[in-house]
Amino acid sequence: MKSAANWFPRTEEVQPNEMRIIFMGTAPFIRPGQMNTSIFVQLGNGENFVFDIGEGSPANYIAAGFALNQLKDIFITHLHVDHYNGLPYVWMFGTWAGGWHDNLRVYGPSGRTPEFGTAKMVEGMKMFTGWHRDAFSVFPVGRGWDIDVHEFDFRDNGGVVYEKNGVKVIHWQRSHAKDGASGYRLDWNGLCFTWTGDGRPSKLDAKYAKGCDVYVTEQQPELVEISSGVQGVPPFLARYTIDTHHTPGYAAGYLANEVQPRLLMTTHMPFDPYLNEEAVAEVREHWDGPFHFGAPDGIVVNVTREQIWVREGILPDYPNSRAPQFDFTNGQLVVPHPPTSREKIQEPFVREQQIDPKKYYPKGYHPELLEDWPVEGDLVVPIEGLPESLKESMGEAWRLRQKNRKALEEQSEE
Ligand SMILES: [Zn+2]
Ligand SMILES: [Zn+2]
Repeated sequence: MKSAANWFPRTEEVQPNEMRIIFMGTAPFIRPGQMNTSIFVQLGNGENFVFDIGEGSPANYIAAGFALNQLKDIFITHLHVDHYNGLPYVWMFGTWAGGWHDNLRVYGPSGRTPEFGTAKMVEGMKMFTGWHRDAFSVFPVGRGWDIDVHEFDFRDNGGVVYEKNGVKVIHWQRSHAKDGASGYRLDWNGLCFTWTGDGRPSKLDAKYAKGCDVYVTEQQPELVEISSGVQGVPPFLARYTIDTHHTPGYAAGYLANEVQPRLLMTTHMPFDPYLNEEAVAEVREHWDGPFHFGAPDGIVVNVTREQIWVREGILPDYPNSRAPQFDFTNGQLVVPHPPTSREKIQEPFVREQQIDPKKYYPKGYHPELLEDWPVEGDLVVPIEGLPESLKESMGEAWRLRQKNRKALEEQSEE
């Protein structure tokens, strides 16, 4: 760590035996400082996983220095919009921003009937992004528009959702008023992360999260009268919402005591000074082990087998995006030919109304306009031909992955 006090984006590489967890969205009620829920898990082998992708959370991925084309494996706990509404954005703009070489993979539960499952949601998303996708198809797309949907039976408790390169993710059902809500547990290299998603405290949480290093659950502070006075939400509505859908702080502590994690974290909660002390007190009723809020946005957790460290990440308000990240294994960058063109999707009479650029560019300034895709087929750029700075910034993630995989291989040989 460059600083024990704070995490500064782009200053630290995840180490081969390390897991890094970043809270990119932390509340059901979106507001500056707390986007809708999303948790980013990075592993020392160079892989990363997105758990829920709530509205607004992509802004924090960008602020934390990640390129949108690095977000390809997205696990959704359930289909309340505060858990997946960042998906169309990541899909559309992540494809534009260099997401050409890999498809998106969306993992999520079935519903009681097919119309309520993850696959149906993705189908609906394809429909409502129809205009956008066709419009953005004047850009390189490659495999960017392809989505592999991994919908699992929400009843199949303990079922494996993902198993690859030593990473295993299992799921189990949560009681969240409607069928089709799940919790996830990820295990890799002797380290474990659990995100329960939303739901009422359940025996299955204790069973499947048992002994996990970092147990993250949601928490609703049980202060309905006070919250009501502050926010104006009628107390009965808050009470009813908690009792049908959510995990009170007391239950979070109770479950932690069953699970016995190395660290309990709660998220999907309002982070407010007037609530926080009480939120801690509720958790402490049953849990006296390590505990930290997974809120507000930008909380960072570094996990190794020896230590766990929690810091506040310093996320800039007006960040520049990270360059798209590419795999340079083949020594070249292939920019796929756009699937369509303006000629195909725009009537000439619309373009004819455009003002002649000569009229607005100042005298002596005549940029060469790029109004048509310049080559017939894919654009193939040898890596050697790229400017040094571009080579450096676009291959960072790939190089780190190579380095760490080598270190992990050497370690396993020993
Ligand atoms: Zn929620
Ligand atoms: Zn929910």
